[in-house]
Amino acid sequence: MIYPGNKRYFTWDYYLKQKFSCKVCKVALNAGFTCPNLDGTKGWGGCSYCSGEGSGEYAGNPLDTLEKQFDQVSSVMRRKWPKCRFIPYFQAHTNTYAPLPVLKAAYESVLHLPNVVGIAIATRADCLPDDVLDYLEQLNQQTFLTVELGLQTIHEETARRINRCHSYEEFLGGYRALQKRSIPTCIHIINGLPGEDKAMMLETIRQVGSLRPHSIKIHLLYITEGTRIAQQYKQQELKALELMEYVDIICDQLELLPPETVVQRVTGDGVRERLIAPLWSLKKFVVMNEIDKEMRRRDSWQGKYSAVTE
Ligand code: SF4
Repeated sequence: MIYPGNKRYFTWDYYLKQKFSCKVCKVALNAGFTCPNLDGTKGWGGCSYCSGEGSGEYAGNPLDTLEKQFDQVSSVMRRKWPKCRFIPYFQAHTNTYAPLPVLKAAYESVLHLPNVVGIAIATRADCLPDDVLDYLEQLNQQTFLTVELGLQTIHEETARRINRCHSYEEFLGGYRALQKRSIPTCIHIINGLPGEDKAMMLETIRQVGSLRPHSIKIHLLYITEGTRIAQQYKQQELKALELMEYVDIICDQLELLPPETVVQRVTGDGVRERLIAPLWSLKKFVVMNEIDKEMRRRDSWQGKYSAVTE
């Protein structure tokens, strides 16, 4: 099966074009929340790869209002895609980790901005109390909502190594609570975590596929200056993946995913100034092209070996 757009997997861009009949861009925001793995509630110091900005390196400046952040980023995107519409994306840190009135005020401040067609909220599965879940259920009736849950790995030993401070069981609890409320959920995983071999990464994708998530983001482990993982890398406790090794793993993972799961990412955006390894990842289009080439070479497609059947 070849997905339209000349990809052999179900891309987010294509999904959004089908759904909204136009180009839709996510606008990364920083609402100034923190994280229970940084403030001592679950742990200190955060996940070992976390820069302290909680994946929000490309989000706006938390000192600016959300409206201003939205305006700044969306106007840049409009120069490239004059007719595009937007999904404000609460990206930095844990975006359900605040009292409900604070969360509501933040989300609702961007819902009615020009050309907004939905909202995306990134969080941890252990930060979804019932009042927040009930509110998200309502929000999902009003707009196109996706909740993004960081899992990273199903392997408990790796989760301990990276100081993730939640178990796979806890992740499943949060994920199932969202499923029960029919809230579209995007699961994030990371390839190349310390101590993991290819078989472990494939086992993570098999388990994630069996959950039949709405969408997935597959990231590469970035080793960036100022993180604990950078110290481990410098002490040679960990190796960064090579480009073709990564491409091979991603293609195997795409083959194992259910065909209907939307693939939001097959690589990420490391921060150029602070990235130590893998430096090949800075050439994102090369990575994407190599993945496309390998899928074509294999004459393969997303879901080819998925265990999930209708
Ligand atoms: S859960 Fe996210 S924000 Fe929190 S420490 Fe880990 S990477 Fe950083």
